Amino acid sequence: MQTAFTYTALPARVIFERGAIAQVAAEVKRLGCNHALVLCTPEQRDLAERVAGLLGPRCVGIFDQAAMHVPMDTVRTVREQAEAQTADCAVAVGGGSTIGLGKAIALESSLPIVAVPSTYAGSEMTPIYGITDHGEKTTGRDPRVLPRTVLYDVDLTLTLPVELSMTSGLNAIAHAAEGLYAPDANPVMGMMAEEGIRALAEGLPAVHSDTHDIAARLRCQYGAWLCATVLGHVGMGLHHKLCHTLGGSFELPHAPTHSIVLPHALAYNRAAAPQAMQVIARALGSSDAPQGIYDLAVSLDVHMALRDLDMPEQGITRAAELASKAQYPNPRPLEAGALATLLHNAWAGKPPAEPGNPAA
Ligand code: NAD
Repeated sequence: MQTAFTYTALPARVIFERGAIAQVAAEVKRLGCNHALVLCTPEQRDLAERVAGLLGPRCVGIFDQAAMHVPMDTVRTVREQAEAQTADCAVAVGGGSTIGLGKAIALESSLPIVAVPSTYAGSEMTPIYGITDHGEKTTGRDPRVLPRTVLYDVDLTLTLPVELSMTSGLNAIAHAAEGLYAPDANPVMGMMAEEGIRALAEGLPAVHSDTHDIAARLRCQYGAWLCATVLGHVGMGLHHKLCHTLGGSFELPHAPTHSIVLPHALAYNRAAAPQAMQVIARALGSSDAPQGIYDLAVSLDVHMALRDLDMPEQGITRAAELASKAQYPNPRPLEAGALATLLHNAWAGKPPAEPGNPAA
């Protein structure tokens, strides 16, 4: 049992209900807002139009150019549109990229954000933002960007393609897994992390069999909410640092990179974080946390090797050096040689082994 901790709860209003999207106008009104700008990617324009229709006169427009990694040019354009249309709130409908765009508006203007997530990435529950300018992504935490209201509507996830559903769910599990060994971990987040991993480990295989299984989709969305709450409250470690480095240096896709790296990052930390590993394994119904995640990912038919994502093998050394350059909180110190071994394993799609301790 953890006997000493500090826990600061973040404010968030969450409505978790099938059909919750119908409450969007009431929730905007509740925030005292009358001019909502709806945000989406070009692919989710139809959904945004539906939301605009539900908002009626409370909608001042749609901005449909949300893009991966929140490019600064897009941020400038949407900030100008929000100002020109005198928007007093933004409704972000979609995945982490769209919600990230809402956060970029809020960072400057403190505009309240209503988030309507349609993936399991979890940005809606965090005060973390990221903006990419000239190929470099700047991330930070700021309470102004935390969405004020989150509407979890399972129906929105039914169109999520099976592969993105699986990798997005594994991305969510990564938040909870790393939250369990964070230096600022606390018992509340510990409970949420375990329950979140369990829910996703049960829900994902069922969604894999039938993407329209509502009960399984609900279980995944519930798990994603819990895992996202953990991400919002505690710091992340090696796994998130590696994925950030790989995404930034080689433009690897976010969720698939997470699902490949996670078992290997956990193997790296296995001996240094035994209690966290026990909780993860218990939630997975496995005897070993890294192997349990690996087996789950294999069963979900996701890519298991970074080379499948077109990562060049010769980039491994550079990635290991970049990731080990700045030491940051992680149960096991970061050593470039061991990280290169980890990345080799992940690149080739091997089962997880503790680098420096292959027998473990
Ligand atoms: P995404 O938002 O980039 O979406 C990927 C694609 O899937 C888009 O084309 C989108 O329109 C489409 N899509 C989303 N939901 C859909 C649905 N239900 N049906 C059909 N298509 C759908 O992907 P993501 O994985 O949700 O988000 C990744 C981004 O979010 C990354 O940039 C990552 O850094 C960021 N992120 C941030 C945080 C945070 O706390 N700040 C947390 C997690 C992820």
